[in-house]
Amino acid sequence: MSFTLHGVGVSGGIAIGHAHLVSHAVLEVPHYVLPKHMLIQELERFQAAIAVTRQELEALRANIPVGAPAEYGAFLDLHLLILGDSTLSVVPLQIIESQQVNAEWALKQQMDELLEQFQKIEDEYLREREHDVVQVVERVIKALLGHPSTIPLPSGSEQSRILVAHDLSPADMMLFKQNRIAAFTTDVGGATSHTAIMARSLNIPSIVALHHAREIIHENELLIVDGQQGVVIVNPDKQVLAEYKLRQSQWELEKQKLKRLKTTVATTLDGAAVELHANIELPQDLPQVKESGATGIGLFRSEFLFLNRDGLPSEEEQFLAYRQVAEVMKGLPVTIRTLDLGADKHLTGTTRESANPALGLRAIRLCLAEPQLFHTQLRAILRASHYGKVRILIPMLSSLPELRQTLHMIVHAKQSLALEEIPFDNNVPIGGMIEIPAAALAAQAFAKDLNFLSIGTNDLIQYTLAIDRTDDAVAHLYDPLHPSVLQLIAYTIGAADKAGISVSVCGEMAGDPQLTRLLLGLGLRDFSMHPAHILAVKQQVLKAELPKISGIAQKMLKTYDPEKMHQLLARLNQ
Ligand code: PEP
Ligand code: MG
Repeated sequence: MSFTLHGVGVSGGIAIGHAHLVSHAVLEVPHYVLPKHMLIQELERFQAAIAVTRQELEALRANIPVGAPAEYGAFLDLHLLILGDSTLSVVPLQIIESQQVNAEWALKQQMDELLEQFQKIEDEYLREREHDVVQVVERVIKALLGHPSTIPLPSGSEQSRILVAHDLSPADMMLFKQNRIAAFTTDVGGATSHTAIMARSLNIPSIVALHHAREIIHENELLIVDGQQGVVIVNPDKQVLAEYKLRQSQWELEKQKLKRLKTTVATTLDGAAVELHANIELPQDLPQVKESGATGIGLFRSEFLFLNRDGLPSEEEQFLAYRQVAEVMKGLPVTIRTLDLGADKHLTGTTRESANPALGLRAIRLCLAEPQLFHTQLRAILRASHYGKVRILIPMLSSLPELRQTLHMIVHAKQSLALEEIPFDNNVPIGGMIEIPAAALAAQAFAKDLNFLSIGTNDLIQYTLAIDRTDDAVAHLYDPLHPSVLQLIAYTIGAADKAGISVSVCGEMAGDPQLTRLLLGLGLRDFSMHPAHILAVKQQVLKAELPKISGIAQKMLKTYDPEKMHQLLARLNQ
């Protein structure tokens, strides 16, 4: 029987292949009572399983494959940390002794207790770490049961195998990179889960949050995974199969065709030049940037250098990272955003209590409250400016006094370097992010003191529509096409034009090819996005005719009816 399941697509593309079910050891834990004289042996068995699991994780940590996503090492560190925590490595020993039960059962009980506590956590990111706890427990249980901890990969034509799992650990996913699995699906996981993050960087079609797919799908059943739409079709009939085969080859062809655009200069049909820059999190992302043909880095989210680690990176460590990016980009612009910590990104062990973290001490606010932290980063960026075309970008500005205080700190950092005779670019351009409606409306005033603006639409939408971008419950209200959002974008572009400075969009809107013409029509000529999206956006730029699209874009600014808005967008993209 053919049927369709819906989940959340986290990585695009279409895969057609046979299901390979990944078993879920935790659900199949035996439970038995032990006589007193066997308890010592059971305690030793548990300790041995913990030791084996640690060795496995350490071996994976020591042998990270070349080209592994930047987050992989951090995931393994996190799993080692969870494994070493006494709640998992010591408390089960007490349960074995006090309840006289087998080790697997003691561990499972302790895990259930922990997961119950996770359910009460409000922070979505932390709540999703419960999957990491489950994955670590699974490893230990597999060690206890004498099973190898890695997923047995199907033999034969792996390229057409689709893994169907309840949940997958990042370590398991690394195997896919080496074994060329066609796609995977999981029952659990949200858009910000580790699994989803890894999926995007591995670039295979993948869907999470399918709920009961692992129970419903049988081994070897034929599946179609549409990672774009978040749809799995089980046992498709001939017609559907033929349709998806066609779509799959069109998708592949499109991808190949796009590669030819890598060195094509991005200009509209009527000759307007457009800059397509890349967003990066770490220097490890540079090879992908080079592949994409990006003409610069429009957003280096520098806070990722500070996450998942004990202690802060020193000035020297930061300088080396920034210099590496500047040098690799060989004179193309490299826009380093100063720390955007707070809200959902925290230094290890420094979470600040706040009822509304997105409205709290975040980004430039936090930097101004921690001047030493900021001073160190500014010195590191300025030092790197000697080795390439570095630009400084200030996140989450809301008022002019805040901007002036920031500029004062940059001058102070320059003076300290000059005193030590350390070289830097004295004319390093300084830009401000427009992410708060107040900043968009004050863009003219900001523009007088800045060399460029960059519109962070992810936050601009969040703050304009009062929708927490990390909250699943209001995700459906997150609307880039809301006319109020478009008006703020258009107003900011106009303000920058008047001041004669450049303006870019570096939020997710910039990487959506459906919105390229709209943004061009609103006057945007500078886009920055994940490198994977650059060629698709370039294709839209190359086909665009500005005189044809600006009229429709202007109409969209005044259209409050969502249905009309979508009709206009369709006309724009014809
Ligand atoms: C944005 O808010 O649009 C942006 C680019 O910054 P981030 O996504 O890092 O908050
Ligand atoms: Mg932002």
